[in-house]
Amino acid sequence: MNYYMWTVGCQMNVADSRSLADGLERLGYVVAAKAEGADIIVLNSCVVRQSAENRVASKLGALKTIKKLRPHSTVALMGCMVGADVFELHERFPHVDMFMSPQSFKPLLDVAEKRMARATSFEYTASAMPPTAYVPIIGGCDNFCTYCIVPYRRGREKSRLVSEIVREVESLVARGSKEVTLLGQNVDSYGHDLPDKPDLADLLETLNNVDGLARLRFLTSHPKDMSNGLIGSIARLAKVCEHISLPFQAGDDEILVAMHRGYTIDQYRNLVERIRNVIPSAAISTDLIVGFPGETDSQFEKSYALLEELKFDMVHVAMYSPRPETYAARKLINDVPPDVKKERLDRVEVLQEKIVTGISAKLLGTTVEVLVEGSKKGRWYGRTRTDKLVFFDDERDLLGHLVEIEVKKTGPWSLQGTVI
Ligand code: SAM
Ligand code: SF4
Repeated sequence: MNYYMWTVGCQMNVADSRSLADGLERLGYVVAAKAEGADIIVLNSCVVRQSAENRVASKLGALKTIKKLRPHSTVALMGCMVGADVFELHERFPHVDMFMSPQSFKPLLDVAEKRMARATSFEYTASAMPPTAYVPIIGGCDNFCTYCIVPYRRGREKSRLVSEIVREVESLVARGSKEVTLLGQNVDSYGHDLPDKPDLADLLETLNNVDGLARLRFLTSHPKDMSNGLIGSIARLAKVCEHISLPFQAGDDEILVAMHRGYTIDQYRNLVERIRNVIPSAAISTDLIVGFPGETDSQFEKSYALLEELKFDMVHVAMYSPRPETYAARKLINDVPPDVKKERLDRVEVLQEKIVTGISAKLLGTTVEVLVEGSKKGRWYGRTRTDKLVFFDDERDLLGHLVEIEVKKTGPWSLQGTVI
């Protein structure tokens, strides 16, 4: 028996898909490369922007014929497309057998178990893990940024117990993972809902002691919640990488209020300064929305100027897209014309390419530590502690190894080098 899984969206979705795949493999299922012919077909969806939702809808549409040809296959939709009321989804996609909200895939495992029980016996061998893995530590979000659908689809914040997270990390390491990225929509608020209130710094301290684990990362941080204690822990703990994901979303205070972000640009600027003072080598990535309702040209120019000033290592820029249920979609007018949003997005991308070209160029001739994650077109690739992608050639099997690379060539999106 086999399963096919298609995942779009954030790292949290990737982590949820991995948990479900682990569950299915434990039941004896093997992964299939295509939906055609698979016994179980799962689409893990994202609706954070309309464009993502459109991709899911077209993929779901394509499954109609597949289900017609194999009516006994089980088709399941999970992730943020599935809200509390699935009536409309049932109407639109009658060929889908199961709708499961994010992380609630137990019903599918029950069905899978029954199907397997009717089939032959099997022997389960835990598959080897890739060198890097995602581990969710807190689900949901309490922030209700006015543009964001996540709290409506993933619910309120719920932290996992430290002991449970440690067990999962140890099991990933036992199966070959060397680097773990801890996930949460707002990872800095980890633990506030647990009885003894551990925080993210405590969790990092504990995980830093896991034997065999080489690196720890976490994302996404919220500027209003990132504490000095956490910054100190990143600096102090050997396995925690100097890489922080800190979305600013807009460079104008009025827009930040309208977004309900809970900080001003001066506070954000001070936070970046504090991080860079304590961890001079820190790489900081960010998210930015252009064309939020009411964003004027001069308000956008402030976002642009902040990018020029702070020089981020990576910028995820998106055009504002109204999302059902959110405050912005209900109460604010989506008044920035699409061509203006696109022009702002293009300007950010051109600027950012120039900035990262400069940041990368400074690494020429230096030695960087790379965790080898795989090979592409005959070349090994991996990432530095600061999340820079590096390609190099070597005859040996280096998958999962930490290697020292001398950087010989730099570009905006990757580095190239040789093993020392
Ligand atoms: N929790 C993180 C934070 O506080 O920034 C990010 C999580 S959100 C799911 C991922 C990114 O999607 C956001 O940082 C934002 O830039 C973008 N995003 C969310 N809603 C959006 C919308 N309605 N239109 C455009 N981009 C959006
Ligand atoms: Fe969405 Fe804001 Fe929560 Fe991030 S912090 S998931 S942007 S509501």
